[in-house]
Amino acid sequence: MAPERNAGTAVCPGSYDPVTYGHLDIIGRAANVFDSVVVGVVNQPVRKQKTLFSAADRVSFIEEQIAEYPHVQVKPFDTLLVDFAREHGAKAIIKGLRAISDFEYEFEMNQLNRKMAPDIESIYFMAAPEYSFLSSSGIKELAMFGGDISGLVPERVAARLQEELKR
Ligand code: ADP
Repeated sequence: MAPERNAGTAVCPGSYDPVTYGHLDIIGRAANVFDSVVVGVVNQPVRKQKTLFSAADRVSFIEEQIAEYPHVQVKPFDTLLVDFAREHGAKAIIKGLRAISDFEYEFEMNQLNRKMAPDIESIYFMAAPEYSFLSSSGIKELAMFGGDISGLVPERVAARLQEELKR
């Protein structure tokens, strides 16, 4: 039986450069709880260098993986996260928490977002143990040095990474 969902809309924001199975785990878990999930792909992340993949590519990598969830959509955005959430009528922002290092940054963002939009709750899902050390930047580094990234990112992402890094 499909799980009952009644928690409204949530957004799952990130740069997803590229999406990993860690991200997809969080998106799938959010989709099991919320009626509707909007994955927000940050067009140009402020705290990171230029992305390796275009926003259109990052969106399509995720879209290919969420076919089983008709109530999940993927959209690029370049506004304030809370404005993006409001635009979609979301009452929750879902973030994944990995090791302790995520906590400090997320704690700060939480305070800022709460100040701007006290009506939108940020909710944190603990990373699955098998993905808790998985990050997009780690994947890019592994791929660059010829490491095995199968099982960590979707196949097409792995293939595109090899192509991009050869250039
Ligand atoms: P990254 O740090 O990998 O570049 P993003 O900025 O795209 O990730 O992060 C989007 C969201 O996904 C953040 O809430 C981040 O904490 C979460 N996240 C990233 N990787 C994982 C993972 N392996 N497991 C759980 N959550 C993750």
